[in-house]
Amino acid sequence: MITDVVISGGGPNGLMLACELSLAGVRPLVLERLPEPSEEPKANGLLGQVVRMLDHRGLHERLSGSPEPPRPNSAYFMFGAMGLDLSLLEDSPVHALPVPQRRIVQVLRERAVELGVEIRWGHEVAGLSQEQDGDAVTVDVAGPEGEYRLRARYLVGADGAHSTTRKLSGIGFPGVTYDRMTVRSAHATVPAGRIDPATGALNVPGHGAVMPFLPHRTEHGGFSYAPMPGHPPLVSTTEWDQPATEAPMSLEELRASVRRVLGVDVPLGPPEGRGPHVLRRLTGGNTRVAERFADGRVFLIGDAAHVYSATGGGPGLNLGLQDAVNLGWKLAAEIRGSAPSGLLDTYETERRSAARRMVLNAQAQAALIAPGDDVTGLREVFAELLRDPGAVRRLAELTAGADVRYDMGEPAPHPLTGRFAPDLELHTPAGPVRLAELTRTARPLLLDLTEGAWLAETPALRHGQVDVVAARSQAPAPTALLLRPDCHVAWASSSPRPDPTEIEALRAALRRWFGVTEPAHA
Ligand SMILES: Cc1cc2nc3c(=O)[nH]c(=O)nc-3n(C[C@H](O)[C@H](O)[C@H](O)COP(=O)(O)OP(=O)(O)OC[C@H]3O[C@@H](n4cnc5c(N)ncnc54)[C@H](O)[C@@H]3O)c2cc1C
Repeated sequence: MITDVVISGGGPNGLMLACELSLAGVRPLVLERLPEPSEEPKANGLLGQVVRMLDHRGLHERLSGSPEPPRPNSAYFMFGAMGLDLSLLEDSPVHALPVPQRRIVQVLRERAVELGVEIRWGHEVAGLSQEQDGDAVTVDVAGPEGEYRLRARYLVGADGAHSTTRKLSGIGFPGVTYDRMTVRSAHATVPAGRIDPATGALNVPGHGAVMPFLPHRTEHGGFSYAPMPGHPPLVSTTEWDQPATEAPMSLEELRASVRRVLGVDVPLGPPEGRGPHVLRRLTGGNTRVAERFADGRVFLIGDAAHVYSATGGGPGLNLGLQDAVNLGWKLAAEIRGSAPSGLLDTYETERRSAARRMVLNAQAQAALIAPGDDVTGLREVFAELLRDPGAVRRLAELTAGADVRYDMGEPAPHPLTGRFAPDLELHTPAGPVRLAELTRTARPLLLDLTEGAWLAETPALRHGQVDVVAARSQAPAPTALLLRPDCHVAWASSSPRPDPTEIEALRAALRRWFGVTEPAHA
């Protein structure tokens, strides 16, 4: 028996891929080597376009606990511990969702189970071999009751930075290791009187106010204070060239580090409330991108494909969860036999360049927070540039990963083509709806906003592979959008009635992405 897709790793990205495959009608099998979900504290939240993406799958509400759609951060953000004044922008592209990784994994696990995904806990991928010119990959699994073999049409390595799948596939992981940096973090309490009730800033006498969640650089290192809802604040420092130590991390070590970085004491107390609590020292950091994201019938997603220094501020899940959403529908189309030629190859093209962009972001931010007079000089020049709204927009989009624009193969693309879909407030015959609510089935969608629903009324555009929805929008919106299941715009028009050239481009997009061959009549 051949399993369609085996996913190695039941972390956030493996589970997200499992959900996407299930939505597209393919049953994946998730193998997770841990006997039960990990309690290890990792991500404190999600940053960037991924927050909107989760809304487009109906998962934002489960994570935020509120039916409100995600709202962009329109006040202030940071790039390399420098202020980005987002109020200079008409529409901020930065979204943030402070939810611990444990909860993200729990929500994705529950969703996967709802969708019928089988997750085998305590089952580790230990070996693999691809049949030459064959149609399967053989996976050796070590389970609680011994070893066994599986044959799968595809294997996806979502097994983290030390990916077994990547290593067994012989895929290199080039990049750099920064040995000089030490990051110390702990959940801790600070006296309530030190918190400014208006701004949430931590007042540090002798130093000044430190805004929550925004990394703060001094000549001696970095400091951040992150009050997570329902949890004790997470306090972190970054220092360079610290003496090596084997001693276990302690709160006293963090206090001493804070003193060196800020030049004054901050009274940090032990954390209160339910654990597990963070108390860690990380030395060094890796910035690496796999030399290939695919090898025959094997694919890599998430940390298996790319890692980068967290100090650079580039959140891994913004990248990894969108890898999963990019690969899911393409792999499902290949398995169903409906994928046009070359579709699966676009996973690597699109996501590798997104990863390289995020690495650039992380490296630039890491350079800007490093100690030294030369960096201070660079920061002064940067601070001047950051008074310019254009510069703020570019860095905000880079931080959010909102500047990712896939090549959709059109010679003269609409400004929205290739980008993540805008969220539009729509009116349909069934009532008001947001575009993000129409994409939760993860199906291709042709949204027709033309007067009189002209496109939707064109019989040749109505067929089973693409949902066609006619609606009205009050905003100065495009008049038509073709969305891929990953919510990137494959084609768009702003014409009251798309002209024959645009219709030809729409037909080309339907062929290129969904293998639709029926002619569309203008
Ligand atoms: C301290 C820290 C803080 C972070 N903070 C943030 C943040 O605030 N925001 C953010 O976006 N990102 C953050 N990250 C990054 C984020 O945690 C990772 O990008 C994310 O965990 C990657 O998910 P993944 O599913 O690709 O891999 P993982 O989370 O590593 O999951 C891989 C899974 O595969 C399993 N596995 C491994 N080998 C095998 C095998 N052979 N067979 C079967 N299963 C296997 C593992 O047990 C694991 O469950 C942080 C990371 C760290 C370490």
